[in-house]
Amino acid sequence: MKIWLDGGLQDSGSARVSVFDHGLTVGDGIFETVKTVDGATFALTRHLDRLTRSARGLGLPDPDHDEIRRACAAVVEANPVPLGRLRITYTGGHGPLGSDRGEQGPTLVVALGGTTRRADSTAVITVPWTRNERGALTGLKTTSYAENVVALARAHQHDATEALFANTAGRLCEGTGSNVFVVLDGEIHTPPLASGCLAGITRELTVEWTGAKETDLPLDVLERADEVFLTSTLRDVQGVHRVDGRELPGAPGPVTAKAMRIFTERSGDDLDP
Ligand code: PLP
Repeated sequence: MKIWLDGGLQDSGSARVSVFDHGLTVGDGIFETVKTVDGATFALTRHLDRLTRSARGLGLPDPDHDEIRRACAAVVEANPVPLGRLRITYTGGHGPLGSDRGEQGPTLVVALGGTTRRADSTAVITVPWTRNERGALTGLKTTSYAENVVALARAHQHDATEALFANTAGRLCEGTGSNVFVVLDGEIHTPPLASGCLAGITRELTVEWTGAKETDLPLDVLERADEVFLTSTLRDVQGVHRVDGRELPGAPGPVTAKAMRIFTERSGDDLDP
């Protein structure tokens, strides 16, 4: 497979990043996952804008959008797949252990992965660990994902594919790699950004296109919601048929199914060839 590194395409088997890259040693990095459909990227401008917000939050230099667009186009062209996910990783770069930042400027890698379609519905669990809605990294898409890795492993132990967090105030927040929506009396709600969740691109579009309300919700709303669904670049809109021990028969329910339809229809508009 061809990936982008050091300003050009390279073979993934021989591409090299320093073992002292700060993305590796201290998780000083940010990333984006961008969907590709038949070689076209989905909502790339929104992803690049979020990458810049994350870079500024971490104090990294602004990423070069033109280079990343060129990199995405080159990687997609070199690895043609009907459905793919481009992973853009941007780190503090190579530098001595203990130093604040790499010395030679940031490392940019663009690679392709995730070519499978997700099921229409899935099972989720809640975890006892909390998202910090006031942390230095809140809302930034950083590569410091170990907490999500641990929570996701717990989900897999329970035959689920996602783990949902509350924030430190006990309010519903998000999943390890997705945003969460609930349906109450026919209305769609999702936690506000103040809950500490990531400003998911799929969440943003779903709110825009379905009129979902941003509502501060207690975690136990999951025990009474009529429907629950997840959104992310990897899942698009995906129904939930079990939350912890609670079954939601017939998922995706009618409101979720409509949101899925709207998302599929409208998302064609956001493809930049
Ligand atoms: N929340 C977290 C923590 C994530 O990592 C992600 C995506 O990776 C999302 C939400 C969903 O964001 P998006 O829809 O932009 O993929």
